[in-house]
Amino acid sequence: MTENSGIGKDNLMPSVFIGHGNPMFVLEPNRWTEAWSEFFLSIPKPKAILAVSAHWYITKSAVTIMDHPRTIHDFGGFPDELYRIKYEAPGSKELGSRVIELLEDTPVERDNKWGLDHGTWSVLTHTFKKADVPVVQLSIDATKPPEFHWKLGEMLAPLRNEGVLILGSGNIVHNLGLARFEIGFDRPFDWNEKFDLEVKSAVKDFDKSYLLNYLELPHGKLSAPTPDHYYPLLYNMGARSLSDKVVSICEGYDAGSLSMRSFALV
Ligand code: ZN
Repeated sequence: MTENSGIGKDNLMPSVFIGHGNPMFVLEPNRWTEAWSEFFLSIPKPKAILAVSAHWYITKSAVTIMDHPRTIHDFGGFPDELYRIKYEAPGSKELGSRVIELLEDTPVERDNKWGLDHGTWSVLTHTFKKADVPVVQLSIDATKPPEFHWKLGEMLAPLRNEGVLILGSGNIVHNLGLARFEIGFDRPFDWNEKFDLEVKSAVKDFDKSYLLNYLELPHGKLSAPTPDHYYPLLYNMGARSLSDKVVSICEGYDAGSLSMRSFALV
């Protein structure tokens, strides 16, 4: 991160996209998780967080309405230690209801079963360690096109004036089928680097057309073969303010086919 002097202007909370990567980063901090921590320490503490996680990708819109969201260990094949981690932030029925109000005619289910999936808690364990900020999750409706998700982001933008931080958690490039974890960090496949850098430019230029039509590009299809990890950033971009600038939080690559780029609109 190179500059943060505008953060908090006009009392707007940032809209933040985090490329969360491998759940093992919870146990093994690295330069990316350290950059997340550094960024969140540099901004005012939010009243609450609305998280849009790649890992609540279902066939409807739903928002968590609960006092004590559970920690969901929605992955397999990891060490026991990872399954023992609990992130016990409170929920916020007030924020959940406000989300439904803002989304107006969009049917949104009041959910009391989900909780916090690892797309959310794997980021928050590094960035809000005290777990004292209420967290609400909004699902991603897999049946809807990219424009829908951008529109929901627009409708949720007023939350930023109400002390709520909008957190998108996914990965701009996420192709697990082609991942080669043995090659480690920062050796991206060509198509990964190309798409990641183009998205970086599109975010900076607020190029909505590029960001919504990514599947028309061969390297876009390879980078986001399923949209779950890509769509969260559409919520962040939809919730932008015209006065926002883009702050880079971190960048880099893992396993050839993952991008770790994270950014904030502030
Ligand atoms: Zn993920």
